[in-house]
Amino acid sequence: MERVIAVANQKGGVGKTTTAVQLAAFLAQRGHRTLLIDLDPQANATSSLGIDRTRLAATVYDALLDPANGTEAVLPDVRPGLDLLPSSGVLAGAEVELVAAPQREQRLRRVIEPLAARYAVVLVDCPPSLGLLTVNALVAARSVLVPIQCEYLPLEGLAHLVTTLDLVKRRLNPALDVLGVVLTMFDARTRLAVQVVQEIRRVFGARAFRTVIPRAVRLAEAPSHGQTIFEYDPTSRAAQAYAELGKELLERLALPVEGDAAVHVSHGVR
Ligand code: ATP
Ligand code: MG
Repeated sequence: MERVIAVANQKGGVGKTTTAVQLAAFLAQRGHRTLLIDLDPQANATSSLGIDRTRLAATVYDALLDPANGTEAVLPDVRPGLDLLPSSGVLAGAEVELVAAPQREQRLRRVIEPLAARYAVVLVDCPPSLGLLTVNALVAARSVLVPIQCEYLPLEGLAHLVTTLDLVKRRLNPALDVLGVVLTMFDARTRLAVQVVQEIRRVFGARAFRTVIPRAVRLAEAPSHGQTIFEYDPTSRAAQAYAELGKELLERLALPVEGDAAVHVSHGVR
């Protein structure tokens, strides 16, 4: 469970899913077996990878209701080295259905525990709320990665997130840590973006990743083709930025740039 990472921020549209999907793809390409868990009823991570959410035999919803059989919902090798625990709209019901369930905050942890040893990294794409689903991710995770959109000053919302993290840490998961904050959708032409970067660096210091993800149309287009940025436009600035971020992530996780399975993976970026 050392390298289970929740990608979380209760604000919508800040780049959680994009970051989770591109990092998962990067890690797999580099030979680090990766499990991506789509924990959002919007199922954007699932559809971003070209998986039809309406045709799934089982999803993360089934896994949460019956963690002992969670493995059955995992789609193996949606890309070489990348497995997906997909989502669909029915997950919206879990938020309500799990309220009365025993150990309702521990469900995802119980799904991941028997699986974790198979992967170098497990990434969990959280929904835009601090409800039970996100709490499940924070209880299962060892660390949190927080994408922050450069287009507005987010400090008030971040205070709320930090409070939640502290609460989960104290009550449910003492090992939880902030792995880092990622600045996304950076547009150097706007003064606000420049200010947000400065402010985040001032508040978070070394916790902020050096790599800043630019605003790039290619990143918005890729999911509608069911492709990662490394497939859709591998030489784009956006692909380079996510590769740089991926390398920083590997550094923070104390993993080598090339993983064990690297030789078996043929679609790598350099
Ligand atoms: P939600 O809270 O709804 O789950 P999210 O935080 O997961 O949203 P994304 O879905 O990753 O955010 O991004 C929101 C929208 O912005 C998507 O349409 C996505 O394709 C687009 N987008 C993400 N990152 C970038 C970027 N760097 N440049 C341009 N568009 C981006
Ligand atoms: Mg999302």
